[in-house]
Amino acid sequence: MKKWENNIRRTVPYVPGEQPKEENIIKLNTNENPYPPVRGALSAHLRLEFEKMRLYPDPEARELVEALEKYYGLGGGQVVVGTGSDDILSLCFLTFFNSDRPILFPDVTYSFYPVWAQVYRIPYECPPLDENFCIRPEDYMRENGGIVIANPNAPTSLGMKRSEIEEIVRANPDVVVIVDEAYVDFGGETALPLLEKYDNLLIVRTYSKSRSLAGMRIGFAMGNRELIQFLRDVQASINSYSLTREAIRVGAVVLEDEETFQKNRSAVMDTREWSRGELEKRGFQVMDSQTNFLFAKHGSVPGQKLFEELKRKGIYVRHFDSERIRDYLRITVGTGEQMEQLIRALDELLI
Ligand SMILES: *Cc1c(COP(=O)(O)O)cnc(C)c1O
Repeated sequence: MKKWENNIRRTVPYVPGEQPKEENIIKLNTNENPYPPVRGALSAHLRLEFEKMRLYPDPEARELVEALEKYYGLGGGQVVVGTGSDDILSLCFLTFFNSDRPILFPDVTYSFYPVWAQVYRIPYECPPLDENFCIRPEDYMRENGGIVIANPNAPTSLGMKRSEIEEIVRANPDVVVIVDEAYVDFGGETALPLLEKYDNLLIVRTYSKSRSLAGMRIGFAMGNRELIQFLRDVQASINSYSLTREAIRVGAVVLEDEETFQKNRSAVMDTREWSRGELEKRGFQVMDSQTNFLFAKHGSVPGQKLFEELKRKGIYVRHFDSERIRDYLRITVGTGEQMEQLIRALDELLI
């Protein structure tokens, strides 16, 4: 071992779902939206900005921040944007979880949370979900250095009621409670109305799922001015230009096409319910999803086996080889046609 290796910040990175190169696979493994982002606005505005690429973008991304504040009915200074919500969440861990007490998040949740805790050396504890994979608010009423809850949760797809989130926020006035609402547009109950009442609540959202813009990398946080300012200060101390010119413009412009947004999310939710029924007919136990994916376990065939055999047929889903969820598949809701192909493939596998 080289001596300099003693000084390395070692980390076990988060493992994202595969992004295979082949064109003709059915990709249901990373919860992307199967529909294109809202039309029209995009290409026009991208072209418009090209000659300005030699200039740095607005470090405060005001065009986008103001569009989001308006869209969500918030006041000035209540939104901060970042390079995907992963960037925002990472910034939140660094900014708000700065004590010796352990932060809390569930044992089964977004697997990036323990990675950030480790890389920033934040102590953490993981209260187990109950036997139905639900989060118990009472588990979050002990001493802690902060809380992060994905609502709806991933990969379980289950949502909590706003009143349950409120119980957690109310019981923890001395720490910041982060609610990661990556999937909330697919039927979850947002904590947004609670922002007026609680100054320790921060809500994190992304354009990657419901707005079909995973490749553009746009995420944002909403909260009271003070919390947001603390985040901005840390952000500006690390990377002062965190969004590109395209992301700022596209992010603002797509908010204007509410109709396509609503149409796409309804289509995903309809396809989800159809797929759930079909999976259940074939012996799967499927969680009641409030997201754009289904978390399902077959009555007799192990998750790993299904995962591999589907992959062999060109259908990529996600399988997590960890204790409580080994038997499950996380299946992104694709187009109706893609889901029909999935069902047909399962029919061939399960006979
Ligand atoms: C997808 C996802 C994110 C990250 O989204 P990006 O904005 O693409 O970085 C964050 N949290 C959860 C729970 C997710 O599923």
